[in-house]
Amino acid sequence: SRDFRVVVVGSTGVGKSALVQRCVRGNFREAYLPTIEDTHLQALGCSHKAGAMHTTDTTGGRRYQATCHCQGHAFILVYSVTKKQTLEELKPLYELIRQLKGNSPQKCAIILVGNKCDESHREVSEKEGAAYVSEWNCAFLETSAKMNINVQALF
Ligand code: GDP
Ligand code: MG
Repeated sequence: SRDFRVVVVGSTGVGKSALVQRCVRGNFREAYLPTIEDTHLQALGCSHKAGAMHTTDTTGGRRYQATCHCQGHAFILVYSVTKKQTLEELKPLYELIRQLKGNSPQKCAIILVGNKCDESHREVSEKEGAAYVSEWNCAFLETSAKMNINVQALF
């Protein structure tokens, strides 16, 4: 299959659904709707290969999450810059993904995302997030689903 599967992970409330919704539907919803399990399919306009990009927004049970992790080609690890704890909570997820997928960036691309960069109240600076790039061998971006900052660049 030429499908490219992107898995979006992170603690509740960091803005996973908002990022996916911003990307897929181009809008933002202020109200919080807890996700059970959401898979968005989006045609991926890519210069060299055409395929579907499956964006899986995970808040399902552990079992569902593990399935997603096994099938993912790329992982978007989302925390909120307004809550340091959400960055810390990504560590075990990061380790799980590396365990399942290995370290090769060809097999598994990881992007660390600090969402809600529009908020003036911060607990995590851009520098603190960027410090993970070398440690985790990943890419890093700050985004705002609300203000539509870096969402296109991310996906
Ligand atoms: P999820 O649990 O990770 O899927 O989080 P949601 O996408 O449901 O978002 C949780 C809450 O954060 C909602 O109230 C959103 O409106 C809000 N939110 C999401 N993204 C942003 C953002 O970029 N900036 C701000 N200020 N709020 C956001
Ligand atoms: Mg959600």
